[in-house]
Amino acid sequence: MLSEFDLIQRYFNRPVTGIPLGIGDDAAIIAPKPGKELAISTDCLVAGQHFFENTNPYKLGYKALAVNLSDMAAMGAVPRWVTLALALPRSLIDHHESWLDEFSRGFHELAALHQVSLIGGDTTAGPLNICVQIIGEVNQGRWLRRSGAKPGDDIWVSGCLGDAALGLKHQLRELVLTDEEAAHCLLALDMPSARVALGQRLIELAHSAIDISDGLVADLGHILSCSGQSATVELETVPGSEIMKRYLPSTLAIECLTAGGDDYELCFTAPKENQSAIRQLGQELKVPLTIIGEIKSQKSQKPELIIYGIKGEKIVLEKKGYDHFTS
Ligand code: ADP
Ligand code: MG
Repeated sequence: MLSEFDLIQRYFNRPVTGIPLGIGDDAAIIAPKPGKELAISTDCLVAGQHFFENTNPYKLGYKALAVNLSDMAAMGAVPRWVTLALALPRSLIDHHESWLDEFSRGFHELAALHQVSLIGGDTTAGPLNICVQIIGEVNQGRWLRRSGAKPGDDIWVSGCLGDAALGLKHQLRELVLTDEEAAHCLLALDMPSARVALGQRLIELAHSAIDISDGLVADLGHILSCSGQSATVELETVPGSEIMKRYLPSTLAIECLTAGGDDYELCFTAPKENQSAIRQLGQELKVPLTIIGEIKSQKSQKPELIIYGIKGEKIVLEKKGYDHFTS
């Protein structure tokens, strides 16, 4: 059996350049460039809560980093460094080879793609739990936030929403997808693509931004409450894939589209005069960008999010998004 030290050496210690001190000491030392500020965020994936215990380890390694990259995207930050705190069940430590080979491969591959360096972490025995902390750089005072939405702003989303939720419903046997549909939706669930480049470019164009991890309604709701604004959304304009369109307008599909979660797309608001610049940016980055509604000034005590259906009827949603404490 490998010692803790050997395990870290074998699976996680990779050469890192450009920092004063990496893995192997009590702490890593990083040196942000002059004029930069650091964006720091942590996301934990807990077995049984965020993923099935038997999830493919390559995809798990990938997703553990992808969800953190998505937080950097939402801030417009350039992801630079990560730490990885792992609790591994004894069974995985004893039969470490295939699981850790695949987990670390998924993690390192995505890290290389984004030029992010693993600079430290922690490894213990315990129920499977994967905690990643990510550190990114932004130019001083130049980042996105949830709180800048203004009345009249367009509300935009990137990509398509709801496929990951369809994939999860398929896994839970609440819905039966064809093999081809399942392959696509499970890929969206297991290997989300964080919109890192888009986030950085939106700093100049957007008033507010968030990444959609808990569902559109919940996450747009955060923009509204942080900004003290209300909003309207036209359900028909919320972008769904060809697969999603086959299941609409069933209640289950509408729920996946608006409140499914695990999308890791960006939702942002921007003044109308930036519409053509944003459309151009979408074309340049080859990321579909869609206007789904408008920010309105808040009239009542709480921000209001009104969703209109095809006939102009107000839609009342049963499920408003994923909440770890109430779901
Ligand atoms: P300490 O006991 O001082 O907390 P550890 O023995 O836990 O240090 O870790 C030794 C070194 O290995 C540290 O630099 C730590 O950051 C790094 N490390 C531990 N676990 C991981 C991991 N899963 N991935 C990357 N680096 C790790
Ligand atoms: Mg120490």
